[in-house]
Amino acid sequence: MTANNAVLGGCPQCGHDIREAWVMIEYETTEGDAGAWAECPNCETIVDPIHNKPE
Ligand SMILES: [Zn+2]
Repeated sequence: MTANNAVLGGCPQCGHDIREAWVMIEYETTEGDAGAWAECPNCETIVDPIHNKPE
């Protein structure tokens, strides 16, 4: 079982750990990679912690 608080990656803005619990939208790239948009709880920016890109 996977806990709902796994760290997906770091916030590209402030470096805070982004956890699964903060994911708002999950998507899949055309290559089949999983991605997710999450709101950083520290700086309140919507970021993609897996690909480490700001919106
Ligand atoms: Zn942040």
